[in-house]
Amino acid sequence: MVELAIGAVSAVVVAALVILLLGSGKGGHSKKTQTKLTHPQTKRERQCPLCSADLAKGQSIRSVLYPKSQGAPDRLMEIKGCPYCYPAPGKRKRICPVCGKEVPYDGDVIARVFDSGERRHVHVLGCSDCYRRKKDTEKN
Ligand SMILES: [Zn+2]
Ligand SMILES: [Zn+2]
Repeated sequence: MVELAIGAVSAVVVAALVILLLGSGKGGHSKKTQTKLTHPQTKRERQCPLCSADLAKGQSIRSVLYPKSQGAPDRLMEIKGCPYCYPAPGKRKRICPVCGKEVPYDGDVIARVFDSGERRHVHVLGCSDCYRRKKDTEKN
């Protein structure tokens, strides 16, 4: 009777080991899928609109965001540049995505920012040169 009892105990130990091994394998897999879910949209919009440099994590575009005017669905934003083109004059060509002309170092690009839920949509209107000229002709 004593021998039988020992046999039963070792069988239980083996079963527990198998469960542990299976469990650890599964745990590692679920961790992988969890990290993928965090901020799936942060990879987009990571390009400088002026010099089109691809920006790494932590590199931000220098911009001035104006407060929303009453009843407007969007806000105006002045984009100065990214760490590659501002403040670093002459290092990279800053091209306006609207008129295709070179934007001077002290110039900027004007954009409209739409905040819809979690997503932010930035629509570039033009550089300080072509956007303001367009605005002036609209007034006259
Ligand atoms: Zn840039
Ligand atoms: Zn322009």
